[in-house]
Amino acid sequence: MMLRRLFNSLQFQQYASLAILFVLLTFTAVSGVVLTQARIQRQIAAQLTLQQELKLYQIADLTRSYAAATTDAERQPLVANIQQIVHDFDSTQATFRTGDQSLGLNSVQDESALNVLGALDREWASYEQVLQSYLGVVSSSAPLSPDLVTSQWGTVVASNQNLRRVFENLAAQAQENSTNVNSWLGLLSTAFVLVPILITVRAVRSISRLRKATEMLGTGDLQARASERTLTELSDLGRTFNAMASNVQQRQTELRQLNETLENRVEERTYELRLATERANEMSRLKSEFLANMSHELRTPLNAIMGFTSIMIDGVSGQIDGQARRMLERVQANSQHLLMLINQILDLAKIESKRIEIASSPFSPRALLDQWQSQTSILMQKKQLIFEGAVDPAVPETLYGDAARISQIAINLLSNAIKFTEKGSVKLAIGRQATTWQIQVSDTGIGIPPQALSYIFEEFRQVDGSSTRKEGGTGLGLAIARNLARMMNGDIQVDSEVGQGSTFTVTLPLAETAPSASASSSVQSVAA
Ligand code: ADP
Repeated sequence: MMLRRLFNSLQFQQYASLAILFVLLTFTAVSGVVLTQARIQRQIAAQLTLQQELKLYQIADLTRSYAAATTDAERQPLVANIQQIVHDFDSTQATFRTGDQSLGLNSVQDESALNVLGALDREWASYEQVLQSYLGVVSSSAPLSPDLVTSQWGTVVASNQNLRRVFENLAAQAQENSTNVNSWLGLLSTAFVLVPILITVRAVRSISRLRKATEMLGTGDLQARASERTLTELSDLGRTFNAMASNVQQRQTELRQLNETLENRVEERTYELRLATERANEMSRLKSEFLANMSHELRTPLNAIMGFTSIMIDGVSGQIDGQARRMLERVQANSQHLLMLINQILDLAKIESKRIEIASSPFSPRALLDQWQSQTSILMQKKQLIFEGAVDPAVPETLYGDAARISQIAINLLSNAIKFTEKGSVKLAIGRQATTWQIQVSDTGIGIPPQALSYIFEEFRQVDGSSTRKEGGTGLGLAIARNLARMMNGDIQVDSEVGQGSTFTVTLPLAETAPSASASSSVQSVAA
């Protein structure tokens, strides 16, 4: 496994093929040099045999001149000459065996050449002996005929020619070997030059396949996979990529399943929620309807109680004593309180069941201010509070809106201001902005702590909700007032400091003309 990975590795293949290529090229170069050297050696040797043949012909020539000479004086230089050439021939023959640096010739090693060389040496030795005897250089027992010299000479020449042919053959052989080796090595080298190219082609193909798979994955095709049957490094890369793609695919599947489950669950919950909301709305509507009906039903007997109490107090049904009058007055006061409570609950129920109508008719803000002042004057006097009323001159003489509902809000705020103020003053200021007008009720009373400012507008919420508090009230006044203001597209804000007093500001849209018919008669709904 490890070996397979190694052999298949791109790095290994590249380095191995380059190493083989390097060895091949080195071998080609070395063998080229060696084989060329061998060929040149044989050619030099062949050249030398040619020179030896020339010497043999010179000797033959001189020998003929020697035979033709008539005097010793003529023979003497000829003999010396022949001796010299013979000496040269000898030393050249020795050169074959010893080699000669000046000629660039190494000693002859080829067996075939050495055999022929041995034969030549032997034949030359016997010729030399015959020649020396013939020239009289060495004494001989029998006189030598020129024919013998010539025949011996012929043998030497033939043997020398034989040696030349051997050398020439060997040179040709070396040439052929060199060509063969070179062509084989060339062929191998070419093949090995192709190996890195083929490896590169294989690598490039794998990379392009991997790139394609990456692109496919990128465009959302999660089936895309890279090939793992390729070079080790790239197959590792491909395997990593495939693992990653499989992971992505699995996550995608899980996500899709989760999404489907979630969608189903959300759908179920939404359905349940819608049902619950519908049920709650229906319950709330029924509750409000019940409250509205009940309040109405309660008011009828209460009005009767109050009517009869009033008749009894007035003495219409006969004189009553002081004790009975005081008790009847308490019955009347409590009945009034109960009536107010019932009225408030009725209002709230109507608002909640969206059964309240906001009218739009002309009214004078200044006249309203006077009306509110007179309505609250008794309460003010009781607590000896100073009333200050002011109307901004910019406020139009006539505005359009529901004067009764606006009065309900203002009276509620004024009653609260009086209720929660022991001494000082209650101010009522009517002002205007570009598109709105305001009713501002300020007092110098007990004030409201900051944390209570957010909840006093909620139903039944009071700063002091304990049973021991001295001010009366239901905790419904502000809730009704804010709902009414919002139904008229306005709102109420409060600003207060404990011990210093409070300021309630009602902001309403400034309507100087009568609204269109459809809008004026429509039933307004309460803002959430
Ligand atoms: P309540 O019938 O109790 O007056 P409201 O809804 O009118 O009910 O007021 C809620 C609570 O807000 C009151 O109980 C009181 O604690 C506080 N509050 C309202 N107006 C004032 C004010 N002018 N000064 C101080 N506290 C006030």
